Amino acid sequence: MRWSRYSTYFQSQRNGLLLYNSASNSFLQMEEAAFGVIKTISENPEAYDFSKDPGLYFNLRTAGFLVDEKKDDRLYDILKMRRLSSNYNNGVMLLTIAPTRNCNFGCPYCYEKNKDFALMTEETENNIVEFIKRRKSVQQISLVWYGGEPLLAFERILSLNNKITSLGKSIRAMIVTNGYGLNEKVIRELENLHIKTIQITLDGDRETHDSRRFLLGGGKTFDRIVANLDGLLKSAWDGKVNIRMNVDETNKGDYTKVHHFIEERYKDKRISVYPGFVHIEGDETNPDVACCFDSEKKGEFLCEQADKNGIFDLPVFPSMVLGGCTMTKRNAYVIGPEGEIYKCWDDVGIPEKVVGNVNEPDQWNMGLVAEEMIEGSYLEDEECKSCFFFPVCDGGCPRARLANKKKDVKYGTCTYFRSHLEELLELYFEQKERKKVCDGCN
Ligand code: SF4
Ligand code: SF4
Repeated sequence: MRWSRYSTYFQSQRNGLLLYNSASNSFLQMEEAAFGVIKTISENPEAYDFSKDPGLYFNLRTAGFLVDEKKDDRLYDILKMRRLSSNYNNGVMLLTIAPTRNCNFGCPYCYEKNKDFALMTEETENNIVEFIKRRKSVQQISLVWYGGEPLLAFERILSLNNKITSLGKSIRAMIVTNGYGLNEKVIRELENLHIKTIQITLDGDRETHDSRRFLLGGGKTFDRIVANLDGLLKSAWDGKVNIRMNVDETNKGDYTKVHHFIEERYKDKRISVYPGFVHIEGDETNPDVACCFDSEKKGEFLCEQADKNGIFDLPVFPSMVLGGCTMTKRNAYVIGPEGEIYKCWDDVGIPEKVVGNVNEPDQWNMGLVAEEMIEGSYLEDEECKSCFFFPVCDGGCPRARLANKKKDVKYGTCTYFRSHLEELLELYFEQKERKKVCDGCN
């Protein structure tokens, strides 16, 4: 028996002794006075006389703090095997489709990049369907409608959806939209479109949002988006709306306002707000979907929101992850309006990142596919292999990881729990305590 190397503990300033194990993702809280005992056990568990306290032995054992001799040694291999199996699962296809790169917004942070008004043709639409048909092992399609602004090509979405639906696969869809065109007609079609998640960006309260996310050529957008949300949440649609707020140094104070505004206006579990951090390198093609961000900043931001602003619906406890995104999953493709295929959402519109085209199905840049899938993966990274957080970390954004290798940059790819574990566990414990009190009141 030994103390798991995935275990840690610390004396909390507010809540006694907190213990966490990343391999089992377990958390324990003890009295401050237990610190000496836990320290002794962690140094040499075999020498400790547990007959004095069998309950402690039971708790540490079942929560994975104490493990059999070799248990930790194979954990990296087991997790790697699971993650690779998921990445190479041909039964599921992740398909992100941008039917247009056009956008009706002129947001300064991406306007320059969206000048190219490509719109998908019927021929490309048909070739996407053929592309799916050729992948005979696919049983499930996870579909994301994306742009530009996808609702500008709504008729194309409807007709492509009908053709994909007729293939008889199980489909679950999501749309990333600026929300301006989410009108009654679109809402009526959500069920047919299998859309269970809608992501909409608000960049602050009315004033801040309208100063950053205005129509091409000028024009406010906040009130129209909110009116559309009203309509959506009055409908019988049973999906989930994620309000993304692009956060940077200039508008981060607005996050609380947006959060309270949405919470108070709707009081509806179908809608929630989360922070999106605009890229640090600033070369994203669509910041509304930028996945990679500075994780330290995110940790700091989450702690601040809970501590100072009373926002508690934030991910303050780690979760076991399989990881992988379109870049590292074999059966994941991002298809642009001209049928061009990429391995990353953020690459749409960048010619040198094209790996293939549905209109020329035999032409693949397999070198680029392999580079992005293998070199972008964290599974062979020496630092990750021995990292305490490996069980609960997805390795961050593979695109950022590749940039770190190829350019003279150092983007953060680590989970924010690495830099803020103690503060976040404190918050998690306090959330649990608060919930107990609230549940007691009901
Ligand atoms: S590589 Fe990074 S930016 Fe691209 S889809 Fe994956 S997580 Fe998102
Ligand atoms: S990305 Fe960072 S936190 Fe995650 S496993 Fe690798 S070294 Fe650890």
